[in-house]
Amino acid sequence: MHHHILSNRFFKEAEEYIPGGVNSPVRACKSVGCDPVFIEKGEECYLYDADGNSYVDYVCSWGPMILGHCHPHVVSAVSEALLQGTSFGAPTWREVELAKKIVDLVPSIEKVRLVNSGTEATMSAIRLARGFTKRKKILKFDGCYHGHADSFLVKAGSGVATLGIPGSPGVPEEIVANTISIPFNDPEALQGTIEKEGENIAAVIMEPVPANMGVVLPRKGYLEFVRDITSKNDILLIFDEVITGFRISLGGAQEYFDISPDLTCLGKIIGGGLPGGAYGGKAQIMEEIAPSGPVYQAGTLSGNPLATAAGIATLEILERPGTYDNLREKADYLAQGLTKLADRYEVPCVNQRIASMMTTFFGQTEPVMNFQDAMKSDTKMYGKFYRNMLDQGVWLAPSQFEAAFTSLALNWDAVDFTLEAAESAFSRLKNS
Ligand SMILES: *Cc1c(COP(=O)(O)O)cnc(C)c1O
Repeated sequence: MHHHILSNRFFKEAEEYIPGGVNSPVRACKSVGCDPVFIEKGEECYLYDADGNSYVDYVCSWGPMILGHCHPHVVSAVSEALLQGTSFGAPTWREVELAKKIVDLVPSIEKVRLVNSGTEATMSAIRLARGFTKRKKILKFDGCYHGHADSFLVKAGSGVATLGIPGSPGVPEEIVANTISIPFNDPEALQGTIEKEGENIAAVIMEPVPANMGVVLPRKGYLEFVRDITSKNDILLIFDEVITGFRISLGGAQEYFDISPDLTCLGKIIGGGLPGGAYGGKAQIMEEIAPSGPVYQAGTLSGNPLATAAGIATLEILERPGTYDNLREKADYLAQGLTKLADRYEVPCVNQRIASMMTTFFGQTEPVMNFQDAMKSDTKMYGKFYRNMLDQGVWLAPSQFEAAFTSLALNWDAVDFTLEAAESAFSRLKNS
Protein backbone atom coordinates (compact mmCIF):
# COMPACT_ATOMS: atom_id res chain seq x y z
CA MET A 1 0.00 0.00 0.00
CA HIS A 2 1.49 3.30 -1.13
CA HIS A 3 1.49 6.37 1.06
CA HIS A 4 0.85 9.74 -0.52
CA ILE A 5 1.54 12.03 2.41
CA LEU A 6 3.50 14.66 0.49
CA SER A 7 1.32 14.38 -2.61
CA ASN A 8 -1.75 15.05 -0.49
CA ARG A 9 -0.09 18.01 1.19
CA PHE A 10 1.04 19.45 -2.16
CA PHE A 11 -2.44 19.04 -3.62
CA LYS A 12 -4.08 20.86 -0.70
CA GLU A 13 -1.76 23.77 -1.29
CA ALA A 14 -2.19 23.58 -5.06
CA GLU A 15 -5.95 23.95 -4.63
CA GLU A 16 -5.39 27.29 -2.90
CA TYR A 17 -3.55 28.77 -5.86
CA ILE A 18 -4.59 26.85 -8.98
CA PRO A 19 -8.21 26.16 -10.05
CA GLY A 20 -8.92 22.58 -9.02
CA GLY A 21 -5.26 22.28 -8.05
CA VAL A 22 -4.20 21.26 -11.56
CA ASN A 23 -3.17 22.91 -14.82
CA SER A 24 -5.13 20.48 -16.98
CA PRO A 25 -8.42 18.92 -15.80
CA VAL A 26 -7.52 15.36 -16.83
CA ARG A 27 -4.86 15.31 -14.10
CA ALA A 28 -7.36 15.79 -11.29
CA CYS A 29 -8.32 12.10 -10.96
CA LYS A 30 -11.88 13.06 -10.00
CA SER A 31 -13.49 10.37 -12.14
CA VAL A 32 -11.45 7.60 -10.51
CA GLY A 33 -12.20 8.79 -7.00
CA CYS A 34 -8.84 9.90 -5.65
CA ASP A 35 -6.52 12.90 -5.43
CA PRO A 36 -3.65 13.39 -7.87
CA VAL A 37 -0.19 12.04 -7.13
CA PHE A 38 2.65 14.54 -7.57
CA ILE A 39 5.53 13.33 -9.70
CA GLU A 40 9.10 14.11 -8.78
CA LYS A 41 10.96 12.53 -11.69
CA GLY A 42 10.84 10.02 -14.50
CA GLU A 43 13.45 7.54 -15.64
CA GLU A 44 13.02 5.18 -18.59
CA CYS A 45 9.60 3.53 -18.13
CA TYR A 46 9.27 4.52 -14.46
CA LEU A 47 7.78 7.49 -12.62
CA TYR A 48 8.75 8.42 -9.06
CA ASP A 49 6.34 10.42 -6.91
CA ALA A 50 6.98 12.99 -4.19
CA ASP A 51 6.73 10.27 -1.50
CA GLY A 52 9.29 8.04 -3.22
CA ASN A 53 6.85 5.50 -4.70
CA SER A 54 7.62 4.17 -8.16
CA TYR A 55 5.28 3.31 -11.02
CA VAL A 56 5.46 1.65 -14.43
CA ASP A 57 4.27 4.45 -16.70
CA TYR A 58 1.59 3.75 -19.34
CA VAL A 59 0.40 7.35 -19.66
CA CYS A 60 3.67 8.62 -21.12
CA SER A 61 2.55 12.21 -20.48
CA TRP A 62 -0.64 11.36 -22.46
CA GLY A 63 1.38 10.23 -25.46
CA PRO A 64 4.57 12.25 -26.00
CA MET A 65 7.06 10.12 -24.05
CA ILE A 66 7.27 7.30 -26.59
CA LEU A 67 10.98 6.84 -25.79
CA GLY A 68 10.34 6.80 -22.05
CA HIS A 69 11.74 9.44 -19.69
CA CYS A 70 15.18 11.07 -19.90
CA HIS A 71 16.27 9.27 -23.04
CA PRO A 72 20.01 10.07 -23.23
CA HIS A 73 19.83 11.22 -26.86
CA VAL A 74 17.04 13.69 -26.07
CA VAL A 75 18.72 14.87 -22.87
CA SER A 76 21.94 15.66 -24.70
CA ALA A 77 20.17 17.37 -27.63
CA VAL A 78 18.12 19.57 -25.30
CA SER A 79 21.15 20.34 -23.08
CA GLU A 80 23.14 21.45 -26.10
CA ALA A 81 20.30 23.69 -27.26
CA LEU A 82 19.80 25.08 -23.76
CA LEU A 83 23.38 26.33 -23.57
CA GLN A 84 22.97 28.18 -26.87
CA GLY A 85 19.97 30.19 -25.72
CA THR A 86 16.30 29.32 -25.39
CA SER A 87 14.46 31.71 -27.72
CA PHE A 88 15.40 34.31 -30.31
CA GLY A 89 12.26 35.19 -32.25
CA ALA A 90 14.29 34.68 -35.41
CA PRO A 91 14.65 31.61 -37.62
CA THR A 92 16.94 28.79 -36.48
CA TRP A 93 18.30 25.82 -38.44
CA ARG A 94 16.64 23.25 -36.16
CA GLU A 95 13.21 24.43 -37.39
CA VAL A 96 14.19 23.53 -40.94
CA GLU A 97 15.62 20.20 -39.81
CA LEU A 98 12.43 19.26 -37.97
CA ALA A 99 10.21 20.48 -40.83
CA LYS A 100 12.25 18.42 -43.31
CA LYS A 101 11.93 15.33 -41.15
CA ILE A 102 8.17 15.76 -40.85
CA VAL A 103 7.81 16.19 -44.61
CA ASP A 104 9.98 13.10 -45.17
CA LEU A 105 8.12 10.91 -42.70
CA VAL A 106 4.45 11.90 -42.97
CA PRO A 107 3.27 10.88 -46.45
CA SER A 108 0.70 13.64 -47.16
CA ILE A 109 2.68 16.59 -45.77
CA GLU A 110 4.48 18.74 -48.34
CA LYS A 111 4.81 21.85 -46.20
CA VAL A 112 4.49 22.27 -42.44
CA ARG A 113 4.15 25.07 -39.90
CA LEU A 114 5.45 24.53 -36.35
CA VAL A 115 3.33 25.64 -33.38
CA ASN A 116 3.38 25.05 -29.59
CA SER A 117 0.62 22.53 -28.91
CA GLY A 118 -1.94 20.22 -30.45
CA THR A 119 -4.67 22.77 -29.74
CA GLU A 120 -2.82 25.40 -31.75
CA ALA A 121 -2.36 22.93 -34.59
CA THR A 122 -6.06 22.05 -34.86
CA MET A 123 -7.40 25.58 -34.44
CA SER A 124 -4.97 26.83 -37.08
CA ALA A 125 -5.81 23.97 -39.43
CA ILE A 126 -9.53 24.76 -39.41
CA ARG A 127 -8.86 28.47 -39.91
CA LEU A 128 -6.76 27.54 -42.92
CA ALA A 129 -9.44 25.15 -44.20
CA ARG A 130 -12.08 27.88 -43.89
CA GLY A 131 -9.82 30.42 -45.58
CA PHE A 132 -8.97 28.05 -48.39
CA THR A 133 -12.49 26.78 -49.14
CA LYS A 134 -14.34 30.02 -48.21
CA ARG A 135 -16.85 27.87 -46.33
CA LYS A 136 -17.84 28.22 -42.66
CA LYS A 137 -18.74 24.88 -41.15
CA ILE A 138 -16.61 22.09 -39.84
CA LEU A 139 -17.68 18.54 -39.25
CA LYS A 140 -16.27 16.45 -36.41
CA PHE A 141 -17.15 13.17 -34.72
CA ASP A 142 -18.72 12.63 -31.29
CA GLY A 143 -16.09 11.63 -28.73
CA CYS A 144 -13.10 12.86 -30.75
CA TYR A 145 -10.96 15.44 -28.99
CA HIS A 146 -9.18 18.15 -30.94
CA GLY A 147 -7.88 20.34 -28.13
CA HIS A 148 -9.75 23.06 -26.29
CA ALA A 149 -10.43 25.70 -28.96
CA ASP A 150 -14.05 26.97 -29.02
CA SER A 151 -15.12 25.23 -32.22
CA PHE A 152 -14.23 21.77 -30.95
CA LEU A 153 -16.04 21.78 -27.61
CA VAL A 154 -19.08 19.99 -28.97
CA LYS A 155 -19.57 16.38 -27.82
CA ALA A 156 -15.81 16.21 -27.29
CA GLY A 157 -13.75 13.36 -25.86
CA SER A 158 -10.90 13.27 -23.31
CA GLY A 159 -11.44 15.41 -20.18
CA VAL A 160 -14.66 16.84 -21.60
CA ALA A 161 -16.11 13.31 -21.74
CA THR A 162 -14.54 12.23 -18.44
CA LEU A 163 -16.18 15.11 -16.58
CA GLY A 164 -19.46 14.65 -18.46
CA ILE A 165 -19.49 18.23 -19.84
CA PRO A 166 -21.72 18.49 -22.94
CA GLY A 167 -19.97 21.59 -24.25
CA SER A 168 -18.57 24.51 -22.32
CA PRO A 169 -19.90 27.79 -20.96
CA GLY A 170 -17.95 30.63 -22.52
CA VAL A 171 -18.29 29.26 -26.01
CA PRO A 172 -20.84 31.41 -27.90
CA GLU A 173 -23.67 29.55 -29.62
CA GLU A 174 -22.86 31.42 -32.82
CA ILE A 175 -19.48 29.70 -32.87
CA VAL A 176 -20.63 26.15 -32.23
CA ALA A 177 -23.47 26.70 -34.72
CA ASN A 178 -20.71 26.21 -37.29
CA THR A 179 -19.64 22.88 -35.84
CA ILE A 180 -21.47 19.69 -36.78
CA SER A 181 -20.78 16.58 -34.70
CA ILE A 182 -21.92 13.13 -35.83
CA PRO A 183 -21.25 9.52 -34.73
CA PHE A 184 -17.95 7.90 -35.74
CA ASN A 185 -17.93 4.71 -37.85
CA ASP A 186 -21.32 5.54 -39.36
CA PRO A 187 -21.07 6.11 -43.15
CA GLU A 188 -24.81 6.87 -43.51
CA ALA A 189 -24.67 9.66 -40.94
CA LEU A 190 -21.77 11.26 -42.83
CA GLN A 191 -23.41 10.83 -46.21
CA GLY A 192 -26.71 12.30 -44.98
CA THR A 193 -25.01 15.32 -43.42
CA ILE A 194 -22.94 16.02 -46.51
CA GLU A 195 -25.97 15.71 -48.79
CA LYS A 196 -27.74 18.34 -46.68
CA GLU A 197 -24.89 20.66 -45.71
CA GLY A 198 -21.92 19.74 -47.90
CA GLU A 199 -21.69 23.10 -49.69
CA ASN A 200 -21.14 24.85 -46.38
CA ILE A 201 -18.60 22.43 -44.93
CA ALA A 202 -14.97 23.56 -45.11
CA ALA A 203 -13.47 20.47 -43.51
CA VAL A 204 -14.08 17.13 -41.90
CA ILE A 205 -11.68 16.79 -38.97
CA MET A 206 -11.11 13.41 -37.35
CA GLU A 207 -8.81 11.35 -35.23
CA PRO A 208 -8.29 8.56 -37.82
CA VAL A 209 -8.13 6.17 -34.87
CA PRO A 210 -9.97 7.91 -32.03
CA ALA A 211 -8.07 7.59 -28.76
CA ASN A 212 -9.83 10.22 -26.66
CA MET A 213 -12.99 8.19 -26.04
CA GLY A 214 -10.69 5.26 -25.36
CA VAL A 215 -9.18 3.53 -28.40
CA VAL A 216 -11.83 2.94 -31.08
CA LEU A 217 -10.86 1.29 -34.37
CA PRO A 218 -12.27 2.51 -37.68
CA ARG A 219 -14.47 -0.10 -39.39
CA LYS A 220 -12.94 -1.68 -42.48
CA GLY A 221 -13.38 0.72 -45.40
CA TYR A 222 -14.61 3.61 -43.24
CA LEU A 223 -11.57 5.88 -43.63
CA GLU A 224 -11.60 5.21 -47.41
CA PHE A 225 -15.27 6.20 -47.45
CA VAL A 226 -14.56 9.45 -45.57
CA ARG A 227 -11.70 10.29 -47.94
CA ASP A 228 -13.82 9.58 -50.99
CA ILE A 229 -16.92 11.52 -50.01
CA THR A 230 -14.93 14.58 -48.86
CA SER A 231 -12.96 14.68 -52.12
CA LYS A 232 -16.12 14.46 -54.19
CA ASN A 233 -17.65 17.38 -52.29
CA ASP A 234 -14.57 19.65 -52.23
CA ILE A 235 -14.38 19.32 -48.46
CA LEU A 236 -10.90 19.20 -46.94
CA LEU A 237 -10.09 16.15 -44.87
CA ILE A 238 -8.04 16.93 -41.76
CA PHE A 239 -6.44 14.06 -39.88
CA ASP A 240 -5.81 15.05 -36.28
CA GLU A 241 -2.79 12.82 -35.70
CA VAL A 242 -1.74 14.52 -32.47
CA ILE A 243 -1.81 11.06 -30.83
CA THR A 244 -1.50 8.66 -33.79
CA GLY A 245 1.33 10.57 -35.51
CA PHE A 246 4.67 8.74 -35.03
CA ARG A 247 2.72 6.42 -32.69
CA ILE A 248 0.94 3.74 -34.70
CA SER A 249 3.66 3.90 -37.35
CA LEU A 250 6.45 6.31 -38.26
CA GLY A 251 4.15 7.94 -40.83
CA GLY A 252 1.12 7.86 -38.52
CA ALA A 253 -2.36 6.55 -39.26
CA GLN A 254 -2.24 7.88 -42.83
CA GLU A 255 0.68 5.57 -43.56
CA TYR A 256 -0.81 2.67 -41.58
CA PHE A 257 -4.12 2.83 -43.48
CA ASP A 258 -2.72 4.33 -46.69
CA ILE A 259 -5.11 7.30 -46.78
CA SER A 260 -3.99 10.76 -47.82
CA PRO A 261 -5.66 13.62 -45.92
CA ASP A 262 -5.41 17.23 -47.15
CA LEU A 263 -4.12 18.52 -43.82
CA THR A 264 -2.57 16.83 -40.80
CA CYS A 265 -2.26 18.04 -37.20
CA LEU A 266 0.64 16.87 -35.05
CA GLY A 267 1.58 17.36 -31.40
CA LYS A 268 2.58 15.26 -28.41
CA ILE A 269 5.45 13.05 -29.77
CA ILE A 270 6.69 15.82 -32.07
CA GLY A 271 7.59 17.93 -29.04
CA GLY A 272 9.61 15.10 -27.48
CA GLY A 273 8.21 16.08 -24.07
CA LEU A 274 8.49 19.83 -24.62
CA PRO A 275 5.64 22.04 -25.87
CA GLY A 276 5.43 21.43 -29.60
CA GLY A 277 2.92 20.93 -32.37
CA ALA A 278 2.63 21.27 -36.12
CA TYR A 279 0.16 21.32 -38.96
CA GLY A 280 0.93 20.58 -42.56
CA GLY A 281 -0.36 19.26 -45.83
CA LYS A 282 -0.56 19.96 -49.52
CA ALA A 283 1.74 22.83 -50.52
CA GLN A 284 -1.05 24.57 -52.43
CA ILE A 285 -3.15 24.80 -49.26
CA MET A 286 -0.28 25.56 -46.88
CA GLU A 287 0.84 28.49 -49.08
CA GLU A 288 -2.35 30.30 -48.02
CA ILE A 289 -0.82 30.87 -44.57
CA ALA A 290 0.82 34.22 -43.75
CA PRO A 291 3.27 35.49 -44.83
CA SER A 292 2.98 33.62 -48.16
CA GLY A 293 -0.83 33.93 -48.09
CA PRO A 294 -3.57 35.84 -46.28
CA VAL A 295 -4.61 33.35 -43.53
CA TYR A 296 -3.05 34.66 -40.33
CA GLN A 297 -1.30 32.46 -37.78
CA ALA A 298 1.74 33.29 -35.64
CA GLY A 299 3.61 32.42 -32.43
CA THR A 300 6.31 34.05 -30.28
CA LEU A 301 7.74 30.69 -29.23
CA SER A 302 6.85 28.64 -32.34
CA GLY A 303 9.72 26.43 -33.46
CA ASN A 304 11.39 26.99 -30.10
CA PRO A 305 15.03 25.79 -29.92
CA LEU A 306 14.48 23.39 -27.00
CA ALA A 307 11.26 21.94 -28.42
CA THR A 308 12.73 21.42 -31.88
CA ALA A 309 15.86 19.83 -30.40
CA ALA A 310 13.71 17.40 -28.40
CA GLY A 311 11.47 16.70 -31.40
CA ILE A 312 14.35 16.00 -33.79
CA ALA A 313 16.14 13.78 -31.27
CA THR A 314 12.93 11.82 -30.61
CA LEU A 315 12.30 11.25 -34.32
CA GLU A 316 15.93 10.16 -34.83
CA ILE A 317 15.45 7.37 -32.31
CA LEU A 318 12.06 6.39 -33.73
CA GLU A 319 13.57 6.12 -37.23
CA ARG A 320 15.86 3.28 -36.14
CA PRO A 321 14.87 -0.12 -37.55
CA GLY A 322 12.73 -2.33 -35.31
CA THR A 323 11.20 0.50 -33.25
CA TYR A 324 7.59 -0.16 -34.12
CA ASP A 325 7.92 -3.95 -33.80
CA ASN A 326 9.39 -3.45 -30.34
CA LEU A 327 6.52 -1.16 -29.28
CA ARG A 328 3.89 -3.49 -30.74
CA GLU A 329 5.26 -6.73 -29.30
CA LYS A 330 5.01 -5.42 -25.75
CA ALA A 331 1.53 -4.04 -26.38
CA ASP A 332 0.45 -7.37 -27.91
CA TYR A 333 1.68 -9.31 -24.91
CA LEU A 334 -0.01 -6.94 -22.49
CA ALA A 335 -3.32 -6.94 -24.35
CA GLN A 336 -3.37 -10.74 -24.55
CA GLY A 337 -2.41 -11.05 -20.90
CA LEU A 338 -5.12 -8.63 -19.78
CA THR A 339 -7.76 -10.36 -21.88
CA LYS A 340 -6.83 -13.77 -20.45
CA LEU A 341 -6.92 -12.47 -16.88
CA ALA A 342 -10.28 -10.78 -17.41
CA ASP A 343 -11.66 -14.11 -18.69
CA ARG A 344 -10.18 -16.06 -15.79
CA TYR A 345 -11.67 -13.72 -13.20
CA GLU A 346 -14.90 -13.21 -15.16
CA VAL A 347 -14.57 -9.45 -15.30
CA PRO A 348 -16.59 -8.13 -18.24
CA CYS A 349 -14.31 -5.95 -20.35
CA VAL A 350 -13.08 -5.50 -23.90
CA ASN A 351 -9.49 -4.62 -24.76
CA GLN A 352 -9.11 -2.58 -27.97
CA ARG A 353 -5.65 -2.05 -29.38
CA ILE A 354 -3.75 -0.85 -32.39
CA ALA A 355 0.06 -0.88 -32.48
CA SER A 356 1.28 0.53 -29.15
CA MET A 357 -1.95 2.03 -27.83
CA MET A 358 -4.88 0.34 -26.14
CA THR A 359 -7.92 0.79 -23.92
CA THR A 360 -9.62 -1.79 -21.73
CA PHE A 361 -13.30 -0.83 -21.61
CA PHE A 362 -14.85 -2.16 -18.40
CA GLY A 363 -18.41 -3.45 -18.30
CA GLN A 364 -18.40 -4.11 -22.06
CA THR A 365 -18.85 -7.41 -23.85
CA GLU A 366 -18.94 -6.20 -27.49
CA PRO A 367 -16.46 -4.08 -29.44
CA VAL A 368 -16.81 -0.35 -28.77
CA MET A 369 -17.40 1.34 -32.14
CA ASN A 370 -18.31 4.91 -31.20
CA PHE A 371 -18.85 7.42 -28.40
CA GLN A 372 -22.30 6.13 -27.54
CA ASP A 373 -20.90 2.63 -27.02
CA ALA A 374 -17.96 3.98 -25.00
CA MET A 375 -20.32 5.86 -22.69
CA LYS A 376 -21.89 2.55 -21.62
CA SER A 377 -18.63 1.54 -19.94
CA ASP A 378 -18.61 0.85 -16.22
CA THR A 379 -16.55 3.83 -15.01
CA LYS A 380 -16.97 2.82 -11.36
CA MET A 381 -15.35 -0.52 -12.12
CA TYR A 382 -12.59 1.26 -14.01
CA GLY A 383 -12.04 3.52 -11.00
CA LYS A 384 -11.58 0.50 -8.71
CA PHE A 385 -9.18 -1.10 -11.17
CA TYR A 386 -7.28 2.17 -11.54
CA ARG A 387 -6.86 2.72 -7.78
CA ASN A 388 -5.76 -0.86 -7.24
CA MET A 389 -3.18 -0.68 -10.02
CA LEU A 390 -1.90 2.68 -8.74
CA ASP A 391 -1.48 1.18 -5.29
CA GLN A 392 0.61 -1.61 -6.74
CA GLY A 393 2.80 0.71 -8.78
CA VAL A 394 1.21 0.85 -12.23
CA TRP A 395 0.46 4.29 -13.65
CA LEU A 396 -2.65 4.29 -15.87
CA ALA A 397 -4.73 7.18 -17.18
CA PRO A 398 -7.14 8.40 -14.48
CA SER A 399 -10.08 7.97 -16.85
CA GLN A 400 -11.83 5.14 -18.68
CA PHE A 401 -11.87 7.21 -21.87
CA GLU A 402 -8.15 7.40 -22.57
CA ALA A 403 -5.43 5.22 -24.04
CA ALA A 404 -2.57 3.31 -22.44
CA PHE A 405 0.73 3.53 -24.34
CA THR A 406 3.80 1.34 -24.44
CA SER A 407 7.16 3.13 -24.73
CA LEU A 408 10.49 2.00 -26.13
CA ALA A 409 11.86 2.16 -22.58
CA LEU A 410 9.29 -0.33 -21.26
CA ASN A 411 11.15 -3.53 -20.30
CA TRP A 412 9.80 -7.08 -20.08
CA ASP A 413 10.17 -7.23 -16.29
CA ALA A 414 7.95 -4.17 -16.03
CA VAL A 415 5.42 -5.77 -18.39
CA ASP A 416 5.30 -8.94 -16.27
CA PHE A 417 5.08 -6.86 -13.11
CA THR A 418 2.08 -5.08 -14.68
CA LEU A 419 0.29 -8.34 -15.47
CA GLU A 420 0.85 -9.63 -11.92
CA ALA A 421 -0.65 -6.42 -10.57
CA ALA A 422 -3.54 -6.77 -13.01
CA GLU A 423 -4.19 -10.33 -11.81
CA SER A 424 -4.55 -9.09 -8.27
CA ALA A 425 -6.77 -6.18 -9.40
CA PHE A 426 -9.04 -8.44 -11.47
CA SER A 427 -9.36 -10.98 -8.67
CA ARG A 428 -10.48 -8.21 -6.34
CA LEU A 429 -13.01 -6.92 -8.87
CA LYS A 430 -14.45 -10.43 -9.09
CA ASN A 431 -14.80 -10.64 -5.34
CA SER A 432 -16.13 -7.14 -4.74
C1 LIG B 1 -3.97 15.95 -26.97
C2 LIG B 1 -4.74 16.15 -28.23
C3 LIG B 1 -4.96 17.43 -28.76
C4 LIG B 1 -4.58 18.69 -28.03
O1 LIG B 1 -3.21 18.83 -27.85
P1 LIG B 1 -2.67 19.78 -26.68
O2 LIG B 1 -1.19 19.76 -26.89
O3 LIG B 1 -3.13 19.20 -25.40
O4 LIG B 1 -3.25 21.13 -26.93
C5 LIG B 1 -5.58 17.53 -29.99
N1 LIG B 1 -5.97 16.44 -30.66
C6 LIG B 1 -5.78 15.19 -30.19
C7 LIG B 1 -6.20 14.01 -31.00
C8 LIG B 1 -5.18 15.01 -28.94
O5 LIG B 1 -5.04 13.79 -28.45
